[in-house]
Formats: sequence, structure tokens, C-alpha cells
Amino acid sequence: MQKHIAVLAGDGIGPEITDGAVHVLKAVADKFRHTFTFESLPIGGCAIDACGEPLPAHTVERCLASDSVLLGAVGGPKWDALPGDKRPEKGLLGIRKAMGLYSNIRPARLWRALADASPLKRELIEDGIEIVVVRELTGGIYFGKRGSFADEEMGETAWDTEQYSVKEIERITRIACELARKRSGRVISVDKANVLETSRLWRRTVHTFAQMHYPDVTVTDMLVDNAAMQIVKDPAQFDVLLTSNMFGDILSDEAAQVTGSIGMLASSSLGDTPCGLYEPIHGSAPDIAGRDAANPIATILAAAMMLRDSFGMTKEYAAVEHAVEEVLGEGWRTADISSAGTHTIGCREMARRIAEHI
Ligand code: NAD
Repeated sequence: MQKHIAVLAGDGIGPEITDGAVHVLKAVADKFRHTFTFESLPIGGCAIDACGEPLPAHTVERCLASDSVLLGAVGGPKWDALPGDKRPEKGLLGIRKAMGLYSNIRPARLWRALADASPLKRELIEDGIEIVVVRELTGGIYFGKRGSFADEEMGETAWDTEQYSVKEIERITRIACELARKRSGRVISVDKANVLETSRLWRRTVHTFAQMHYPDVTVTDMLVDNAAMQIVKDPAQFDVLLTSNMFGDILSDEAAQVTGSIGMLASSSLGDTPCGLYEPIHGSAPDIAGRDAANPIATILAAAMMLRDSFGMTKEYAAVEHAVEEVLGEGWRTADISSAGTHTIGCREMARRIAEHI
């Protein structure tokens, strides 16, 4: 297969970790006889420096023309003083919008070799953790109407609103059910239906849609406060977790944390076409940038998700996952996941070893 991949390295450790992922993708191409071409494009702080804006029109144009997009991370102290709409993060929101990406998928997996990194007790993680949070990405309270005003009695007052339409809920339910079909066949849908009107619509719509189109998928509901508790109490009960934008934002960080390291977790954002945006969940880590100390595994796993979810390359995905497992099993670690008895290596060396195992 021939695929053209846009690479948005971004800022901080972005260039180091995306280089690592591209190195592994080249090894996959060699092994499985594919042709991958890569095109580097600016986004975030480096785009502000080069072009005066966080998301140049050329970057958007080329991403839309590519088969998929791999992103490092954006942001850093250099650009922190800029006004909100000029900041590097604006580039990220802009590219998601331009590509019509409404779902964010974040697998939180506990790697056997890294079980010690989990803050949870051993007996809670014996059965492993394999949670995939499917988060609605472009609706809900983060995009609703908001404002602030001076109230005579209360003083300064602010408000935000949450709005969801049946259409928005149905399309994210479809993503969760499709994923569940390839996994356990179970979806847990999170809401706050005992309080919120949007959650009641969410619950009704999820069930009606799933029953009509995915009768083979079992959908159950969980209130968000209970879900937050259950993730630390009994993480093994979860497989696909379907959430609104804000609930997913919070629960996916919690799910990530119980697996131990931020440097290991990938995410994908998808819309109605196979062209998606794949990235690590962490930021640009300015504190370790340029020192060859970053963990490239989250970005390498994001690249693997691209192979599976955008290109339909399941064997290739499995090969990358297996290579990561092997390298960790041999005791190789970047500094963020190292522990007694393991060997600490740099970002480049980690990517090289994983590529070697493909
Ligand atoms: P961060 O995720 O960049 O870093 C948090 C901590 O985790 C740091 O100590 C960092 O060194 C460590 N870390 C992160 N990724 C690592 C990796 N791959 N290997 C080893 N250690 C790693 O979060 P932050 O410090 O809050 O933010 C730094 C910058 O990143 C900010 O400008 C923020 O706005 C931006 N940010 C960007 C994204 C994104 O591009 N998607 C996401 C979050 C934060």
C-alpha cells in the first residue's frame, strides 16, 4: 500500500518523538512492503515563529490532502504570554476542526513489564487494564455559549452551557460500538442523567441508536461520579467507555494515570473519513526537550493506531505493539519509566530498538 503521512512535529520534544515514530513506520514499510511518504509541516509555536500564526493555511491544506496526520505536541514557555487566540494550542483546536474530527479515542493500557509504575495495588491490576475512552470532541460544554457579568448581589458571575444534539450523540455512539465489536462487545456509556438534561438525551439516544444499529453490542450506563470511583476501584471491568467531551477529558486522564506513565499513552481523533490525527496524550515537555530523554513510545503507539484505524493494517499494528512489548520485556527503558534493574536509554535508542524488533 502507498500512504502519504503529514508529520506535524510541533514544539519541545515534538521533533524527537515524531522522528522516533517515523523511524518505526519506515521499518514497518520495509517489512510489510508498503510505501510511506512523509511531509513535515509547521504547527504551534514553531509555526508562530516561522509564519506568524499557529496553524498556517498551507499546513491545513496539506493535512487534508494526506492519508493521515501524525502530531508531536505543541506549546512551551516561549509562547505562554501570547493572547489566547494566538497561542500554539489554537493550532491544535484548529486542525481538529478543519479535519472534522469529532471523536477522540484514548486507549489506557497497563503493560505487563510496567506493572510497578501503576499507583494501584497489585491485586487491583492483576487482570490487566485495557480501557479505551471514546470521547466526543467537538460538542458539549467546551463549545457551548458562555459569558460573564457583574451581578448586583453576587458580584462577578460567569456561566457556561452544555448542548448536545441527537446527531452528535449518534455519531460518537457509532464510533464506540464499532470499536466494541472489534473488542469485548461491551460499551459503558457515562453520563449524569440524574441531574442533566443533556445527559438524559445522551442516555436515550445512545440506547436507541445502539439497539437499532448494533444489537450485538451490550450497552450499559454509569453515572460519571461512579465511573471516576470505579476506574480506581476495579479498572478491569472497563473496556470501551463512551463519554461526552468534558467527562471524557477528565476520565481519560484518570484512566491514563492508573496505567503509570504519560509517556506510554497514545490517542487518535477521527471524523467521517479514514484520515485521522494521531498523537501522544502528553504535551511538549519543555523541561526535557532537546536532551534525547523523552519517551517516544506514546507517539510510536499513536503511529501504530494510524496503521490500524486509518489504513486497516491490523498485522502491522500488532507488529509494532509486539515490538514495544519485547523491548520493554528486555528491560530497556527511557528515564520516565525506568526502575531498579532496568537499563535507561535515550529517545533515539528506544525508537531504534523498537524498529529493530519489527
Ligand atoms: P507535559 O505533558 O508536556 O509534561 C508533563 C510532565 O511529563 C513533564 O515533567 C514532562 O517532562 C513529562 N513528560 C511528558 N511527556 C513525556 C515523554 N514523552 N517522555 C518523558 N517525559 C514526559 O505537560 P505540561 O508540562 O503541563 O505542558 C508543557 C507544554 O505542553 C505546555 O505548553 C502545554 O500547553 C503543552 N501541552 C500540549 C499538548 C498537546 O500538544 N496535545 C497537551 C498537553 C500540554
